[in-house]
Amino acid sequence: MVTFTLSTTKRSEIADITAKVADAVAKSEVASGVAHVFVPHTTAGVTINENADPSVGDDMLAILEHLVPWRGNYRHTEGNSAAHAKASLVGFTVQVPIEKGKLALGTWQGVQFCEFDGPRSRRVCVQVVEA
Ligand code: ZN
Repeated sequence: MVTFTLSTTKRSEIADITAKVADAVAKSEVASGVAHVFVPHTTAGVTINENADPSVGDDMLAILEHLVPWRGNYRHTEGNSAAHAKASLVGFTVQVPIEKGKLALGTWQGVQFCEFDGPRSRRVCVQVVEA
């Protein structure tokens, strides 16, 4: 398993981690299989969506903020319940098929780290499985 870190700079942000995931796949020398991407945190997640136009990510963050406002009648005393809820909505894993040693993403797809309680230093785990 390959683990890399990233530093987020805002409370909520989407960071393109496609190149880092592709690096992990290249290091593995696996030609055919699956890259399993896992975020080991409770207030951040990972998804796949369009990176070419950053406004897609901005809209996604706005939609999630609309669904789960930062302030609300929450019980969790740490004060970041919205971040926990958004992380669960987005999820903590994605799987990307590997073909000929490359991530078989669609033309407009990228792997996006989703920060919901930054800024923080975060870890991402990539496990490449041959198949
Ligand atoms: Zn919390």
